[in-house]
Amino acid sequence: MAVDIIVIGCGVAGLSCARLLQEQGHRVRIWAATQSPRTTSDVAAAFWYPYRVYPEERVARWARDSFAAFARIKDVDAGVLTRSAIELLHEPAERSWSAALPGARPARADELPEGFAHGQVFDSYVIETPRYLPWLRRRFLEAEGTIEVRALAGLAEATDHAEVVFHCAGLGARELAGDGSMLPVRGQLVRVRNPGIDRVIIDEHSGGAITYVVPRSEDVILGGTTDEGEELLDSDRAATEAIVARCLALEPRLRDAPILGTQVGLRPCRPEVRVEREMHGDTPVIHNYGHGGAGITLSWGCAVEAVGLLRA
Ligand SMILES: Cc1cc2nc3c(=O)[nH]c(=O)nc-3n(C[C@H](O)[C@H](O)[C@H](O)COP(=O)(O)OP(=O)(O)OC[C@H]3O[C@@H](n4cnc5c(N)ncnc54)[C@H](O)[C@@H]3O)c2cc1C
Repeated sequence: MAVDIIVIGCGVAGLSCARLLQEQGHRVRIWAATQSPRTTSDVAAAFWYPYRVYPEERVARWARDSFAAFARIKDVDAGVLTRSAIELLHEPAERSWSAALPGARPARADELPEGFAHGQVFDSYVIETPRYLPWLRRRFLEAEGTIEVRALAGLAEATDHAEVVFHCAGLGARELAGDGSMLPVRGQLVRVRNPGIDRVIIDEHSGGAITYVVPRSEDVILGGTTDEGEELLDSDRAATEAIVARCLALEPRLRDAPILGTQVGLRPCRPEVRVEREMHGDTPVIHNYGHGGAGITLSWGCAVEAVGLLRA
């Protein structure tokens, strides 16, 4: 039976839920304070990699489901690129999400930058958000979805107007759901011209911030910072220089790549991702937020589980 649904939020979480709900025949409206290109989802480096997100077992399942969904979408128009990735390690490590990945194997010594004794190579996806989010949005609108720009002060503003509400407000859940467990973790990225690189490099294990090199079709995203509790959206010049230096140490071909810009966003971190159904009076609210540094990686897996709660 078709249900009249409001999805709060037009980032990757809201758009993915909205599309799945439409595919099941429901009438869907999105209400959101901002939309692409002004969401955290637009800022993401957006490679498939579970980072700063919990609980591990559910995350592994959501990530695998999303991986399979990106494999089905894989299309340059949608901005979904296949990329080999190498995760650099100081000790051999077992990751719950990596074993079954295509192309997964230990890195060869000649693939490792100086200072690293181990690494794992796997096939991954890079999602070019400047293409992907407009592509998702377009598909939603073409299927008779509507998007209304409005900033809500509380969930009740939506529950009064729909049979079911999906709550996908990212960090906005702090105010909308009064969720004091949300923690903004600021991230800064640097965008440089792509000098011909096509492998993602990740170093999460050298202490301090995560370092990554994420090649897209025209540019490369260099990261990053992980500033817990910080909410300043201006970029910081010292951080830019530090990011470029760390990435250059991993990928010398970046040496002459001109800087195209910087971008800053707040990861919507939470002790655990919240995919849960809750009654607000007579109206079910289905929460889907708190995806930390992996909202793109988990987007389809979490959407499938959240939409499944409609039948509960
Ligand atoms: C620097 C950085 C790098 C990242 N890199 C990666 C990566 O490589 N891979 C990966 O998987 N993830 C990455 N992430 C994480 C990812 O960006 C987030 O987890 C994801 O974008 C969260 O999506 P969302 O839809 O929940 O939130 P958002 O994209 O923030 O969307 C929230 C939506 O809710 C709306 N909203 C909020 N409050 C209200 C309100 N009161 N009323 C109405 N609407 C409201 C907003 O306007 C917006 O439309 C990165 C994040 C950062 C900051």
